[in-house]
Amino acid sequence: MAQGVPLGKVFGGTRMSAIVLGGGLMGSATAFFLARRGIATTLIDTGRIGAGATVASFGNIRRSGRYLPQLPLAHRSLALWHRLETLLGRDVEFRATGHLRLIFDPEGLALMRRFAEDARPWGLDLEELGPDQIRRRFPGLGPDAIAASFSPRDGSANPRLIAPAFADAAARAGVQVVDQAQVLSVKPGFTVETSRGTFHADRLVNCTGHHGAALAAQFGEPVPIEVRGPQMAVTEPLPHRILPVVGVWSAEHGAYLRQVERGNVVFGGAVDRGTVGADGRAHADPARLPAQLRAVVRLCPALRHVAVIRQWSGAEGYVRDGLPVMGASGTTAGLFHAFGFCGHGFQLGPGVGDAMAELVATGRCETPLEDFHIGRFAA
Ligand SMILES: Cc1cc2nc3c(=O)[nH]c(=O)nc-3n(C[C@H](O)[C@H](O)[C@H](O)COP(=O)(O)OP(=O)(O)OC[C@H]3O[C@@H](n4cnc5c(N)ncnc54)[C@H](O)[C@@H]3O)c2cc1C
Repeated sequence: MAQGVPLGKVFGGTRMSAIVLGGGLMGSATAFFLARRGIATTLIDTGRIGAGATVASFGNIRRSGRYLPQLPLAHRSLALWHRLETLLGRDVEFRATGHLRLIFDPEGLALMRRFAEDARPWGLDLEELGPDQIRRRFPGLGPDAIAASFSPRDGSANPRLIAPAFADAAARAGVQVVDQAQVLSVKPGFTVETSRGTFHADRLVNCTGHHGAALAAQFGEPVPIEVRGPQMAVTEPLPHRILPVVGVWSAEHGAYLRQVERGNVVFGGAVDRGTVGADGRAHADPARLPAQLRAVVRLCPALRHVAVIRQWSGAEGYVRDGLPVMGASGTTAGLFHAFGFCGHGFQLGPGVGDAMAELVATGRCETPLEDFHIGRFAA
């Protein structure tokens, strides 16, 4: 069965069409922005939309601590997060509550000050707070912190809502959404054969998350990637008191938490990322919970006697140099990659979708993506 794609915009006499493989945040956002550029787009996922790393995310929309040349993309993305309710016609629970990052030792303070100074020319201004300001503005948080940074425009959103919201808006804009389709083959040109039909397009965007490296390898582009599972948990609902997302400046894996408006406190960090089983799934390890709780209670001592009701993890691709793979293929005309977001892709998602759509449609991108090009791993 051969299926067409919706008619697209005419580019230089030919109709541009695209298949986006992978309906996580990156793929569903890319499909949405491609459709807004008039490109006939099909979004294909082997599972359910948004049910990969995206749904497992902590939901942190944080710019501090990022690789500096990634900040233009992070700013582009943050501007979109602020407009998403209008763009998607749905509240994805984005709240610009600010991101408070506590500091408990001189090393953390030096780390924060160095980053804040280096990030200023990149357009990110962090407020430095002393202990009195922390106590006054954020009572109950980090009582033994010696300082903190605060980034007022950052915040969080609901990881369960974001990819389906993008995919639904994409469908309303004309994208053909094909989920739960076993992908049988991907051929240059491009033809994607699935259990739900065969699809053709002249552009292919690889947004398959930690599976992205296998697809890239098929086109002669190796990417060293490791699949790991950060571990998350959530408490019973409590009166809503914690407004900002809270983290730590530390050279180690610091803990982080946020309270959703329904009252539950979601937390993660403080322990090594778990391994992923033969089933390709990441599983939370209850034995790691006490260490996480000790770290979280330091951020908010009132959580000491609260019940944890659920733990989870999610399989995420960590590229060897800690940076994602984004941009045009180095081997195959018409092929593009956006995968391997190394545990920090949630914030970037809307910006990645917009930037990839710009790149696919125009061959250029106003946001610098050179550092993320797949060619950095070519022999
Ligand atoms: C536990 C956890 C917490 C996190 N917390 C944060 C955070 O607080 N802040 C932050 O910025 N980032 C965070 N991240 C990272 C962020 O969630 C990810 O970087 C981001 O969601 C990746 O999105 P994606 O679309 O690339 O991948 P995914 O969401 O994994 O989507 C990939 C999709 O591709 C599909 N697929 C796979 N193979 C194929 C194929 N061959 N054909 C078609 N479809 C295919 C899969 O079914 C899947 O739906 C976290 C990640 C995890 C796991």
